[in-house]
Amino acid sequence: MSTSTKYIFVTGGVTSSLGKGIIAASLAKLLQAQGYRTTIQKLDPYINVDPGTLNPYEHGECYVTEDGAETDLDLGHYERFLNVPTSQANNVTTGRIYQSVIEKERRGEFLGKTVQVIPHITDEIKERIQILGKSGNFDIVITEIGGTVGDIESLPYIEAVRQLKWDLGEHNALVVHLTLVPYLSAAGELKTKPTQHSVKTLMESGVQADVLVCRTEHDLPIELRRKLALFCNVREEAVIQSIDASTIYDVPKLMLKQGLDKVVLKKLNLPSSEPDLAQWDKFLTRLKNPITEIHIGLIGKYVELQDSYKSILEAFIHAGAENEVRVVVEPIHSEYLNEDNIKLKLSHLDGVLVAPGFGERGIEGKIDAIKYVRTHNIPFLGVCLGMQMAVIEFSRNVLGLKDANSTEMNPKTDNPVIDMMEDQKTIVNKGGTMRLGSWACQLVPDSIARKVYKSDAISERHRHRYEFNGKYKEQIEAAGMKATGLNPDTGLVEIIEIPSHPWFVGVQYHPEYKSTVANPHPLFVAFVKAALKHKKEKAHAKMAK
Ligand code: GLN
Repeated sequence: MSTSTKYIFVTGGVTSSLGKGIIAASLAKLLQAQGYRTTIQKLDPYINVDPGTLNPYEHGECYVTEDGAETDLDLGHYERFLNVPTSQANNVTTGRIYQSVIEKERRGEFLGKTVQVIPHITDEIKERIQILGKSGNFDIVITEIGGTVGDIESLPYIEAVRQLKWDLGEHNALVVHLTLVPYLSAAGELKTKPTQHSVKTLMESGVQADVLVCRTEHDLPIELRRKLALFCNVREEAVIQSIDASTIYDVPKLMLKQGLDKVVLKKLNLPSSEPDLAQWDKFLTRLKNPITEIHIGLIGKYVELQDSYKSILEAFIHAGAENEVRVVVEPIHSEYLNEDNIKLKLSHLDGVLVAPGFGERGIEGKIDAIKYVRTHNIPFLGVCLGMQMAVIEFSRNVLGLKDANSTEMNPKTDNPVIDMMEDQKTIVNKGGTMRLGSWACQLVPDSIARKVYKSDAISERHRHRYEFNGKYKEQIEAAGMKATGLNPDTGLVEIIEIPSHPWFVGVQYHPEYKSTVANPHPLFVAFVKAALKHKKEKAHAKMAK
């Protein structure tokens, strides 16, 4: 089979959470910075068709693409590093593979054959891997295989990699295997055995790793690299160390220093050059040399989990660097917030973001927090559920509609200021049926949004079933909360602001999904700026006293 697209497979061994996504994204960045059109795909071994129905406790954040795919959070890293949008084709799960094979079987496409893991499931996997390559849009496709080698559920993927490597031929495909080299402090030694075993496990499935990326807390001495090369059948220069970094954004440069890009390009028979990382370096310099710091409260119900609000945390890193400030995000659990402790928990903050979410747990704490920041002039950004809670808080405490609520939380409320979208009312299935992906939005002149975006028409990514209830728009606007962003076709309210407040913005969409290193999201940049201003004004007021 001849092909012009080259394929790189990234597998993981020894343990999960080694950061395959970051290594894949870093390698992609280095290749992109040498002029190769590169994309990254994630294959997930679970049976859910997509992570849209998964609880963040199970799976962390659900990332949403332009075309409305609910995907693994690693796709967020891919976009943040590469600044190129991903799509449904970039994330495939075992559930989706089986669903598609079973649908083909029902249509009679297998002509009476027994449908089996090999070749039918593996063929479907191979097809999905090559969709991006065949689009003609990419020179290199990096496919990250979720899970750890040796897992029963990832076996069909490894088998598909074995077959594809063979089909594609030498110089067209290679395997980067990410492993752990643990340090035993009692022995004072780095240990190679787990890596040897995981490479061996991969070989039992007929796949030879071409490059080893070894996660380690200490530098790997040359003898140890030699030993790994010898035992694992890889060249010495293809044993790459990936040492713990203070920020994930350091990893591309660390990989560059280790020559990961060169090793890979050589194996693929492609020319290598000095990557142009000028913009990346500029970002790193700003990130590492903040002039001051601000404290932002992140109010949500999954705050104990780092991965639940991944894109929001990263958007703050981008926006902080852009403003040359360190953004210290203080996670605040909305379930434990109430009128009595609100001042203690929020009064020192320079800004507050109320997070997206589903269901009733913790919403009253979010509403109390919004009341506090609204009445204390603290900059506020409400995202999705956070925006909806801002509308509820305003309706209850300014309009005096005491039982104002979302029908998601109280279907019987007399004042459903947030209500289910009309076209959602007939939907029965939960998976993939929300209002998803990119939607247009028209901005109102003189609004914060209009100034921030520097444009009248924008598009942002959504993931929700409920919306601002248009029946209350006039009443809410008359009381001082304005709808400043509307869907041009349906009139749905996508943005609300309170012009009498220094910076109070709620958005029905998720701006965090579109923030990248090259393009920090303007709304996050402006929010951080507003928080910085708030901090300075607070300091002045204190001095004046
Ligand atoms: N639960 C709300 C809705 O479905 C908000 C969703 C979200 O925050 N992503 O409309």
